[in-house]
Amino acid sequence: MSFTLPGIGPKTIVKLEKLNIKSDLGLLYHFPYRYLDFSKSIKISQAPLEQNVTINGQIQSINNLFLRNGKSLQKIVLTDSTGSIDLIWFNQPYLTKNFQQGQVWAFAGTTSLYHGHKTIFSPEYGQFNTGKIIPIYPETKGLTSRWFRKTISLHLNLLLKNIIDPLPPKLLSQNSLLNLNNALKEIHLPQNQSSLNKARYRLAFDEINSLLALSHLQKKSWETFSPKFILKNYSISKLINYFPFELTDSQKKAWQEIKADLLSKNKVMNRLLCGDVASGKTVLALLSAYLTSQNQKQSLILAPTEILARQHFATFKHYLKDIPIILLTAKNYLPKTIPKNAVIIATHAAIFQKEKFTDNLALLIIDEQHKFGVNQRSFLNSTHPPHTLTMTATPIPRSISLTIFGNLDLSTLKNLPKKRLQVKTFLVPQNKIFNCYHWLSTDIKKNKTQAFIVCPFIEESETAITIKSAKKEFELLKQIFPDLKLELIHGKTKTETRNEILTKFKNNKINILVTTPIIEVGIDFPNATTIVIQSAEHFGLSQLHQLRGRVGRGALQSYCYFFTENTNKGAIERLKYLEKTIDGFKIAEFDLKTRGPGETFSTLQHGFPSLKIASFSDVKLIESCQLFIQQLQQNYPNFDLKKLILNQNSLSLTGKHLN
Ligand code: ADP
Ligand code: MG
Repeated sequence: MSFTLPGIGPKTIVKLEKLNIKSDLGLLYHFPYRYLDFSKSIKISQAPLEQNVTINGQIQSINNLFLRNGKSLQKIVLTDSTGSIDLIWFNQPYLTKNFQQGQVWAFAGTTSLYHGHKTIFSPEYGQFNTGKIIPIYPETKGLTSRWFRKTISLHLNLLLKNIIDPLPPKLLSQNSLLNLNNALKEIHLPQNQSSLNKARYRLAFDEINSLLALSHLQKKSWETFSPKFILKNYSISKLINYFPFELTDSQKKAWQEIKADLLSKNKVMNRLLCGDVASGKTVLALLSAYLTSQNQKQSLILAPTEILARQHFATFKHYLKDIPIILLTAKNYLPKTIPKNAVIIATHAAIFQKEKFTDNLALLIIDEQHKFGVNQRSFLNSTHPPHTLTMTATPIPRSISLTIFGNLDLSTLKNLPKKRLQVKTFLVPQNKIFNCYHWLSTDIKKNKTQAFIVCPFIEESETAITIKSAKKEFELLKQIFPDLKLELIHGKTKTETRNEILTKFKNNKINILVTTPIIEVGIDFPNATTIVIQSAEHFGLSQLHQLRGRVGRGALQSYCYFFTENTNKGAIERLKYLEKTIDGFKIAEFDLKTRGPGETFSTLQHGFPSLKIASFSDVKLIESCQLFIQQLQQNYPNFDLKKLILNQNSLSLTGKHLN
């Protein structure tokens, strides 16, 4: 894989690499992100204003004017049989060298009226840039769209020489798809808008197919694993009866799905349990671990934070009284011998002691999966992985679950345990912040409730700077609430201090807990009824929804307040969406549409593939692709799905795909 095109020397290669173009193929797959339609050639007198046109004419005069402020202006007067038009560029003194008086040239651009003259500012010129629909490419210094247009136009046939369409022609015509060569030709040199649309559709189709094929193959390869241990069915009714509530229908259904996986003799579970905040995912972890333990096998439950690990530890100890429950954090080491039916609850510190428990480990549960990087998640995936259940509170839109998570089986908790009071959500304008604090203070005193205040926190992980700002904010808040008890915890708070504070908060000895978003995941304090989120615009909507889920867990009405300094209309609208929507799925869909998957799911999965043409919110396209792959597999059973996987250079996979 390299460059074979004439005229691409070492200097150009360095520049191309800046755009992540590493070969001829990479160049071919460097797609324009928009186009200008200069296909309309017109006489000067007929050229309408404010439209894209191409004009052929003779150069009447060329001027390079140097302005007083050190800037310069280039002006050409062009004439044809019907009139004259001014062409003006700025600060391109060398440009005029390209032209000579009397020559005939084509120029293209948007016409306007300037000092009473028809004028085109910064027109395009020359055969590759006028008289047609011209592509605009992602550029870098020294590689302009002009360069791409010329290079690709001149060498397109060479670039296409080794391109073979992997899709059977018959399927292409059945699905009205352009063949690959034509699509690639059209994307760079479109003949007209409709053929361009067809090309874009075909290439979008390929991008989605690539992801689907990848998921499909990953799923297949996981299916070749045989379970490490064959688990038997034991009654779990003792545990179910011990719960102080009845399982919801969703929980029952998910349990059936998980149980079938656990008891399967030839398949290892690889399942994603997806359920909104407080939908009761822990119950399923309990049931799975219980069944595993009955089989005298171990379970490992990974929690993203120590707070959550401790909370799970308490819950598991409470419900699974006869089973050894072991807590494993950065500080405590595993005992030399671990009972063979133990349930180990761990933070990712478990990675460093993994040899100790892999022997008898039959079940791995990863809670709040989106907080783990790929490395952490796959650390137990050897050739003999344990049954794996990943749990996430980020609702995953169907389009995403089909493509990115297509390799996992999916269980969804749709209905929440009981009708909870809806958290009332408000975007608080700058000038009402003090009122809001005043109200909060009154509410805490009157109703003995508690609150979280989440401090600005911009980076994905806490840094010295963000912690400093949290500390500063904490000092300020102490002055605002002089007669209330406030405490601060952040990612660098010592574990003992943190546990002390959390215990005090749980016992209502603290009124307001000031934190960074480490409280996002899992924490369960039913008496906390208000959450204030500062600089809310820095968060994704799904993330805000999760933060909001920290309240509304008890019987009292709960409130969520967003503060923002941002007055950008889009940002405000996005936050306002949360005022009226509590459905996590809808929020995730909305986030996906307005911010794109990278931002919506960046914490859900590292290495999210970035699509060049297709969109993850295009459910229709994704469904068509899914059908297409089915057709392909039915009609061409020997077709190798690997052929659908675009290489790194043509689909910019930014990291490793999910295992
Ligand atoms: P999450 O899905 O966010 O992890 P949890 O498992 O922490 O949610 O459950 C949230 C709360 O709901 C807990 O207090 C739990 O005891 C309770 N809960 C779970 N299942 C039910 C149920 N079927 N009926 C009533 N309450 C339930
Ligand atoms: Mg949870």
